Amino acid sequence: MKNIFDYTLEELEKLFVAVGFKKYNASQVFDWVYKKGVLDFSLMSNISKNLKSFLIDNYSLDLLKISKVIRDKKSSKYLLELSDGNKIECVLLKHDYGNSLCVSSQVGCNMGCAFCESGRLKKVRDLSLSEMILQIVTVEMEECIKVDSVVVMGIGEPFDNFEVLKRFISVVTCPYGLEIGQRHITVSTCGLVPKIKEFALMNTQVNLAISLHASSDEVRNKLMKINRAYPIREVFDALDYYIFKTNRRVTIEYVLIDGINDSEEDALNLVSLVKGKLMYVNLIPYNETSNFTFKRSNEFKINKFYDILKKNGINVIIRKNIAGGINAACGQLRAKESA
Ligand code: SAH
Repeated sequence: MKNIFDYTLEELEKLFVAVGFKKYNASQVFDWVYKKGVLDFSLMSNISKNLKSFLIDNYSLDLLKISKVIRDKKSSKYLLELSDGNKIECVLLKHDYGNSLCVSSQVGCNMGCAFCESGRLKKVRDLSLSEMILQIVTVEMEECIKVDSVVVMGIGEPFDNFEVLKRFISVVTCPYGLEIGQRHITVSTCGLVPKIKEFALMNTQVNLAISLHASSDEVRNKLMKINRAYPIREVFDALDYYIFKTNRRVTIEYVLIDGINDSEEDALNLVSLVKGKLMYVNLIPYNETSNFTFKRSNEFKINKFYDILKKNGINVIIRKNIAGGINAACGQLRAKESA
């Protein structure tokens, strides 16, 4: 049985018209599901008996199964089970300015970054639209909250599941759907150049973040095997194109790993890549995991790296590690469970 969360509004409209119902029935069903949180077709009082039975006979409204939740004051990490038994993670961060949810896009990941747990477990499959959307809906229902912003920075490479990502953005932003503004969505990629260009052409206001993590090809080749296909120059050309098309500021993510990418030279190389561009650097102290030998840069080195960027006029912050204590770094909980 198909899940109703597997449809964008346009797809549901087409389906309803094709089987003899009205186009506007789709926005009615969306309104019940996404706005009123009613997960029972028989309670949708303004739709016809025929449509109700059609939906009951053919579609489910199942949420994702919660396998485990780890909470602390400002964050909750969810391990969720999919209908085929695979597990994914999402992390809710409660900021002063609202609730942000970090969602996964695939089961595992094929990008093979040397320091990342998600890659260690390899990609099993892409997530479906419902599996991406239901991370949000399941957490909203469980916590009795509204998610205000979404970052696609969980397990997986969103640009390696591009068609589903586009439909996901459509439901997240849909006025009858989750109705979260485009500017409150951020997609993070390891740098799939053709997809960055395609994303730019979508003409959306959705934010783009790029996992750079090194400022020379020599270092980046070692950390991220995707760099051998799309080296730094090509990534930055694609980012320039995205900025030209959208006029949106790009976030450069840079995980600081001791002795690997945190030297003065690394910082100066980063300055020359970013300087004068509509870009913002997020320095992320590496979250150590027991499966890799990489270590987090020490406080002194992190601050020095930050100072070099700052002195050279780069917009930079050190990302506060609010969820590190609950294994919120990409893929860590899932990796632990299946270790
Ligand atoms: N595939 C996408 C999105 C998922 S990874 C991407 O590469 O951007 C989300 C972010 O967490 C990436 O920047 C990734 O490099 C980073 N990350 C992975 N493992 C980490 C760790 N142990 N500590 C800190 N950041 C980590």
